[in-house]
Amino acid sequence: MTSAAIKLDRVSKTFDGRVLAVDSVTLDIAAGEFFSLLGPSGCGKTTSLRMIAGFEHPDSGRVHVGGNDITDLPVHRRDMGMVFQSYALFPHRTVAENVAFGLRMREVPKPEIERRVAAALAQVALTGFETRKPGQLSGGQQQRVALARALVVEPPVLLCDEPLGALDRKLRQQMQFELKELQKRLGVTLVFVTHDQEEALAMSDRIAVMNRGKVEQVGTPTEIYERPRTRFVADFIGEINILEVGSSLTALRPEKIRLVAPAGARLAGTVETANYLGGSTLLRVRPATGPSMLVRETHAGERASRMPGDAVGLAWNDTDTVSLEG
Ligand code: ATP
Repeated sequence: MTSAAIKLDRVSKTFDGRVLAVDSVTLDIAAGEFFSLLGPSGCGKTTSLRMIAGFEHPDSGRVHVGGNDITDLPVHRRDMGMVFQSYALFPHRTVAENVAFGLRMREVPKPEIERRVAAALAQVALTGFETRKPGQLSGGQQQRVALARALVVEPPVLLCDEPLGALDRKLRQQMQFELKELQKRLGVTLVFVTHDQEEALAMSDRIAVMNRGKVEQVGTPTEIYERPRTRFVADFIGEINILEVGSSLTALRPEKIRLVAPAGARLAGTVETANYLGGSTLLRVRPATGPSMLVRETHAGERASRMPGDAVGLAWNDTDTVSLEG
């Protein structure tokens, strides 16, 4: 399968003459990359994706795929696969007929259709389900059919808008592994829209964090998590402590803080709450002065012993803090 690079070049979109949904977004997505657009509801993720797909035309800026300017090409000439949260399968057609749809539209000969449908179903581990109707499948299986239907035409680009949003947590995690594995195996360029931070961190090669129509930061999951540039990114991805040091803001992840004896500690305080989360416990510690601090106590074996009311000391390294832009 071939894959293509995608470039958004200062792309903007306003709705109804007043909602600036996407505000001069520039993104360079490499061929074969798993790239996520991450951000809160309404930040412009879906509109950005729809401009790549061709469902929306940008007011200004250009969209390039594989080095070609496709801004003015209609949807059906863009050669992209698409998967959405609602699977949009044809309910009265079988799994095989659903998957064959794009090939029929392209008037691919019948024996080739049969061969490619079988291969696509094998890719998503649904061999043997050919004659079932969507209503006879679980949510995860329906989503895999939708994925097979998108992939069977071997598009160089696959666009996914919250494709796992309708699945329960366990199934969702399983599908995250499967989709990432499949994407790497096929080498397709995948643009993935999600508002779920953990999902983006787990799956992506790189993430663009969006806020109010703009891209706040682009980076690998580690860069985004360990080196957030702005307060928004730091706040949006996981738990964080924001410290004021003089006139600047500094971010410190709860797991970077060590619990030590209160005497001589950098900060001493009292445990206010202790939320047991399985592999760790998240403590809220109130110091004598200043805001509460979140501290993650990880425990490999037994459950942690810190309880509300305990006096604790906090220690951390300056190298574990990150200066924020604002
Ligand atoms: P969500 O996670 O809730 O889907 P999103 O980040 O994908 O959000 P968009 O769907 O891109 O956000 O919407 C960005 C902004 O544009 C929002 O304020 C939204 O209300 C507005 N918007 C999107 N589509 C339209 C439309 N067709 N007409 C008017 N406003 C729209």
